[in-house]
Amino acid sequence: MNKSKYVFVTGGVTSSLGKGIISASLAKLLQARGYTVTIQKFDPYINVDPGTLNPYEHGECYVTDDGAETDLDLGHYERFLNVPTSQANNVTTGRIYQTVIDKERRGDYLGKTVQVVPHITDEIKRRMQLLGESGKFEIIITEIGGTVGDIESLPYIEAVRQLRWELPAHNSVVIHLTLIPYLKATKELKTKPTQHSVKELLETGVQADVLVCRTEHPINAEMRKKLALFCNVKQNAVIESIDVETIYDVPLKMLKEKLDKVVLEKFKLPLHGEPNLKEWESFLARLKNPKQEVTIGLVGKYVELPDAYKSIIESFIHAGAANECKVKVEYIHSEFLDKENAVEKINHLDGVLVAPGFGSRGIEGKIEAIRYIRENKIPFFGICLGMQCAVIEFARNVLKLKDAHSTEMNDKTKNPVIDMMPDQKKITEKGGTMRLGAYACEIQKGTKAYSAYGRQKISERHRHRFEFNNKYLNDFKSSGMIPSGINPGTGLVEIIELTDHPYFVGVQYHPELKSTVENPHPLFVRFVKAAMDYKSMVR
Ligand code: GLN
Repeated sequence: MNKSKYVFVTGGVTSSLGKGIISASLAKLLQARGYTVTIQKFDPYINVDPGTLNPYEHGECYVTDDGAETDLDLGHYERFLNVPTSQANNVTTGRIYQTVIDKERRGDYLGKTVQVVPHITDEIKRRMQLLGESGKFEIIITEIGGTVGDIESLPYIEAVRQLRWELPAHNSVVIHLTLIPYLKATKELKTKPTQHSVKELLETGVQADVLVCRTEHPINAEMRKKLALFCNVKQNAVIESIDVETIYDVPLKMLKEKLDKVVLEKFKLPLHGEPNLKEWESFLARLKNPKQEVTIGLVGKYVELPDAYKSIIESFIHAGAANECKVKVEYIHSEFLDKENAVEKINHLDGVLVAPGFGSRGIEGKIEAIRYIRENKIPFFGICLGMQCAVIEFARNVLKLKDAHSTEMNDKTKNPVIDMMPDQKKITEKGGTMRLGAYACEIQKGTKAYSAYGRQKISERHRHRFEFNNKYLNDFKSSGMIPSGINPGTGLVEIIELTDHPYFVGVQYHPELKSTVENPHPLFVRFVKAAMDYKSMVR
């Protein structure tokens, strides 16, 4: 029997209330009290994973060490907890159905009609308990995507109902995250939508134990009493979650509201004194009291939706705090960048990051930006497609290979400086078939990459099909663009940098996926430092 305790987090009233941040904050507090905690997310859509979703649909796709393409909330879990997640931490309706349908085809249910209840709900329950059964975690927080009342959430709520019934007493807690809207005209907070959504949950047989109430204004004692009475929860289990300056304040807010205590009491688990949040607090102090400021441009084609670059933005927050420097990120749409406006859009920046991406839209703008940055010695950081663009720009303008390109954009180019690996060429399916997950890289001593990491052996996460074409390696090297990091097994170039530039580094992998509050990513820390140095030199 699995001994883990289970917290289920549901959402009501509206979407986008921040279940991921509340889950991560609770997990942080429990971890700071000495418990081993993990968080998993169940998403009610039919894609097998979010890898095939456009970032406009669902924000960034977060990749784990084991190569799973997952929801961006897993990024919050890792950034808060500093513990890696895996495929098991993110499950979608598509994956559940795929498993059940594969079993049906194998004949595992021979003779039976396969139905949502019990077959789909059983598979949900099995997956909900996988991490618990691993024996590695005392507390599992399960975030149910979507909003209570949605048609597609129903099997998940039913699975929670059954699990609560099956688990021993005091082993499960349901937290319902809701919105308390404020009516400006009457200057009132309103509890009715919350009452209705708790009732909706109850209609499917699940009684919330804790209410976390998102609000723009403080909730007074009287209102807490009312919410408790009409929603069937204890008064100390009505938790206020007021808007804060940064998501990193939320764990401390939740501590003040005693969310962790309420949960542990329901589990009949000891508090173990006070939580140890020293590192967290010192990070917040550095974040809120910067001594300097830099402005960094983020060149990409999804800039209308900052969620598309979630991990990059958070990495800048971590790296800024590490340098006691406020990092202002200015979004630059790559589609609207050209030779004429590059000066005006880039000249005032202290550093530029060219973002990851797919397809040809905006590519020439990125290349133009990089030419300007390289020639004017502005600090540069290219990630994945951003690194590939730096290679193309160098090939065209320094090696004078005028038609140099990536075969992703132009498969007829005579100079495919970025090309697909032979094993990728055989692949026809799109989902889950890129070069995904953690790969080793060996860094050359004496390079900027080495000065950032301070060691030679690293492991970083990938998500791409195209690679630097090693046929051109000697030409690049002799002209000043060197491979400072190489995959020891395959010889693939993972990091490039310029030798005669103060800071120009491109990486084929995604460093932003490994930056956490406690471990800011060295390449981001080093890049922000380069921007600070540049600013003090030129301004
Ligand atoms: N489109 C490029 C590739 O597949 C880069 C991918 C990325 O930036 N994540 O190689």
